[in-house]
Amino acid sequence: MALKPLIAANWKMNGNRELVSTVTEAVASLSAAVDVLVCPPATLLPVFKAQRNFALGGQDVSAAQAGAYTGQLSVALLKEASASYCLVGHSERRQYQFESDSLIAQKVAAAIAGGITPVLCIGETLAERQQEKTEQVLAKQLAAVYASQPELLSKSVIAYEPIWAIGTGESATPEQAQLTHAFIRAELSRYDAEAATQLRILYGGSVNAANSAALFAQPDINGALVGGASLKPDEFVQICLSA
Ligand code: PGA
Repeated sequence: MALKPLIAANWKMNGNRELVSTVTEAVASLSAAVDVLVCPPATLLPVFKAQRNFALGGQDVSAAQAGAYTGQLSVALLKEASASYCLVGHSERRQYQFESDSLIAQKVAAAIAGGITPVLCIGETLAERQQEKTEQVLAKQLAAVYASQPELLSKSVIAYEPIWAIGTGESATPEQAQLTHAFIRAELSRYDAEAATQLRILYGGSVNAANSAALFAQPDINGALVGGASLKPDEFVQICLSA
């Protein structure tokens, strides 16, 4: 892992003010050798202190800048709440909010235009993996964003999250993940060869303190997007320390 690792916490629809405090305290002990990002529910963003050694992110962002979009959050609103990153296209949003590849492409562009870093989430279902369609699915998800906007790649982070590994306790093996990350990097080099070498590709899906070191030992895994284990401050710190 030659690039500086980024360990991102995705709290999903979990957490409270107490978790804000305990995570802030736990992460305070970490050195600057890893970049840490916490993506809490947006209502908790203003609860974090300005003095902290990690970045904040939203879990989603609107493609629109402002106006009649009930329930949505713009880049400007996220920034005002101290977020400098946002997740885009998480599989739970693709599934439950029916987000399309083209909407996700607009969100990535909106985030970058407004000055925050998108963490674009991609991944295949179990059926797609079993049918050996993983590369085809990922290539399509990436092409939807970068084929017509290759200039966005140098300002992006990618999170590879096989859907079958999310919240299941069944992580991809380090070898499986490395093969897929190498494919993603090669695929993206078609859009911007230089940016592809500098791009951080995070692995997500049942990352925990027991499996993180082996994942981070792989050359194309540059960090993690951690769901369930990020709600346990001590374990999250262990994951960061293993990077
Ligand atoms: P998990 O979630 O770590 O609980 O599998 C990861 C994610 O969905 O971002």
